[in-house]
Amino acid sequence: MTLIKIPKNHPRAKSLKVRETISQAFSDGIVVSSGLIAHGRGEAFDYILGEKTLPVTLTAIKAAVVELLLSRSVISVNGNVAALQCKNIITLANLTNSQIEINLFHRTEHRIQKIHELFMKYTDKNILGTEKKYLVKIPELKSLRRFADKRGIIKSDVVFIPLEDGDRAESLVNLGKRVLTVDLNPLSRTSQMSNITIVDNVMRAIPIMISECRKMQQLSINDLKKILSDFDNENQLNLILDHISTRLISLSKQIID
Ligand code: ATP
Ligand code: MG
Repeated sequence: MTLIKIPKNHPRAKSLKVRETISQAFSDGIVVSSGLIAHGRGEAFDYILGEKTLPVTLTAIKAAVVELLLSRSVISVNGNVAALQCKNIITLANLTNSQIEINLFHRTEHRIQKIHELFMKYTDKNILGTEKKYLVKIPELKSLRRFADKRGIIKSDVVFIPLEDGDRAESLVNLGKRVLTVDLNPLSRTSQMSNITIVDNVMRAIPIMISECRKMQQLSINDLKKILSDFDNENQLNLILDHISTRLISLSKQIID
């Protein structure tokens, strides 16, 4: 695939560059066609949010980092996350002592291998979800995403699932896991089901998680626990919806005036 050169001063340059990255990953067999559609849905919500990390989202980001730091945690990655944030996921996993597990809705051995190879370019960390002998089925799930690694998700207390489908988020909650997500749609089932929802683009959220994690290294366990106990996901989602409503009303006034 030939990449189109996007002029730096193009008003949508950032978003178009990400689109190019994900299209390239589609050509490379890392992302599937429905991943491209999911990306488009995310873009639409990002437009509505204002394509910025909201100040209120920082509270969810901090709480999610604390969860990763204090528990047996796994970062679950799919094709889109691998394409967009592979290196940063490795950094975050190293900083929080989390495992990385590949989990695909459209699972083929070929895709698993492609994503595995991508991670192995940047780390010699053991990437889970890649060896059949360690995979078990999460009973209530029908899709191929029900496979989880005995050494990773199955054993973990906390699972971080950026850009996840609602069914899987729900089944992980039902299995008693604490579930963290990044999802631009505050109304998705994943956002609603998770214990901590970061309503932001993974492109912005993961780098901020890394910098927050570095800052938190000076904090005591009690300070970390306080960040977590102060966090309320329902309130968080309500604040995001408030922001969206206020923003849309103010934009509509600008258009009318
Ligand atoms: P659900 O199953 O949770 O109700 P859905 O069916 O609408 O959600 P899926 O395709 O299952 O959506 O999951 C993709 C989710 O990821 C969407 O909610 C989309 O907004 C979000 N998304 C896509 N790209 C990004 C991105 N770059 N950053 C954050 N979120 C994203
Ligand atoms: Mg879905």
